[in-house]
Amino acid sequence: MPITRILIANRGEIALRIHRAAHEMGIETVAVHSTADSDAMHVRLADHAVCIGPPPATDSYLNVANIISAAEVAHCDAIHPGYGFLSENAKFAEIVEAHDIAWIGPKPEHIRTMGDKVAAKQTAGELGLPLVPGSDGAVSDPEEAKKIAAEIGYPVIIKAASGGGGRGMKVCESEDKLESLMKQAGSEAKAAFGDDTVYIEKYLGNPRHIEFQVFGDGKGNAIHLGERDCSLQRRHQKVLEEAPSPVISDDERMRMGEVCSKAMRDMGYRGAGTIEFLWEDGEFYFIEMNTRLQVEHPVTEAITGVDLVREQIRVADGKPLSVAQEDLEFTGHAIECRINAEDPFTFAPSPGKVSYYHPAGGMHVRVDSGLYAGYSIPPYYDSMIAKLIVYGRNREGCIMRLRRALEEMVVEGVKTNIPLHQELLRQGDILSGDYSIKWLEEWLAARD
Ligand code: ADP
Repeated sequence: MPITRILIANRGEIALRIHRAAHEMGIETVAVHSTADSDAMHVRLADHAVCIGPPPATDSYLNVANIISAAEVAHCDAIHPGYGFLSENAKFAEIVEAHDIAWIGPKPEHIRTMGDKVAAKQTAGELGLPLVPGSDGAVSDPEEAKKIAAEIGYPVIIKAASGGGGRGMKVCESEDKLESLMKQAGSEAKAAFGDDTVYIEKYLGNPRHIEFQVFGDGKGNAIHLGERDCSLQRRHQKVLEEAPSPVISDDERMRMGEVCSKAMRDMGYRGAGTIEFLWEDGEFYFIEMNTRLQVEHPVTEAITGVDLVREQIRVADGKPLSVAQEDLEFTGHAIECRINAEDPFTFAPSPGKVSYYHPAGGMHVRVDSGLYAGYSIPPYYDSMIAKLIVYGRNREGCIMRLRRALEEMVVEGVKTNIPLHQELLRQGDILSGDYSIKWLEEWLAARD
């Protein structure tokens, strides 16, 4: 039975993104929302809306029982989780499928494997993805750890197997500190994730973050849609993303893309996925795979013309991918700025009422946002309020257009990081594409 009504288990811009793709396909949407989001745009645009709980996400957007009940009451035949919240929760995916509701996401077992860092790394290695040199799985014995670290060479990074969001990591410069840092990493991981398992990797000094978008039909066919460069980060949060990467050649894209898509074919992967690598001196090193749609997916859409959410819905409906690898063309350049309601200097969140809003427009300018004048940004959720995605025939043209679009964009009543983006787009290293994952924090520290 084809999908006719999708419950969107998310909020904000991504809920709108999914609603738009669904409506273009003639599919109805059901929004769910917390009491803090009754007036949100995703609730206003959806065909139906169901309140699923009070403001805290644990009671609403993460409330599995209430979301499943909403899907049943509203007669939904599919659920799209967006990103964050329940999107990488294998148990939730299983519950959805057990209710005979189509899960618009990867197979639960793949979500589970890739969500466990040690298992993910092992699987990635078996699938032929290049790994960061390090321990073969978890290490608990300090003597064994010392042996491994001596082999790969210092500095090394100690990582929590169930870590996430950049937490539970320690860089170790020399052997005398290894044992105590392992203990620290283990106890921090135990406190944060309830699991003290750690593993060791070579610490890369100045890498870029480059990720490949992949897509599988769940039946053994899979493609890649090129890479995104997300090296501009603060505290492991991406700030600006671009595609293609300024340092990847066409040949390298096709070579590495093929390595990634072959891995997905071998896995029988279904739906959208992102394989994240650190890149240094021309080498790729797998760090993790995200089994969901990414925030930064629109830059890929801009340079390929493929609607990734539409593909997700098609595949969940048992249809084949609508594009073949040989038909995909990568043209031009796209950059996304994440616009957050926060102080551009201190980064303190700035929720509150938006008194005036004017999104940027014009040729090749896309704004994905749930903002409107009079909307109150609630303090309970992520501070990202809009994504500005700009396309140009080449990187230089894209940057010129992006500067113009940032000039036009007005959000009044709350503070935003628009001034930060404007300043970034005047920096020589950004203009030349010469930046690593350390660049932004070093630049911010020098600016203060
Ligand atoms: P998380 O799931 O917590 O985000 P990741 O494994 O994706 O953890 O790593 C998060 C970030 O930590 C990376 O984007 C990178 O900045 C840094 N990092 C991770 N592994 C290494 C490494 N081996 N060398 C240097 N930096 C690393």
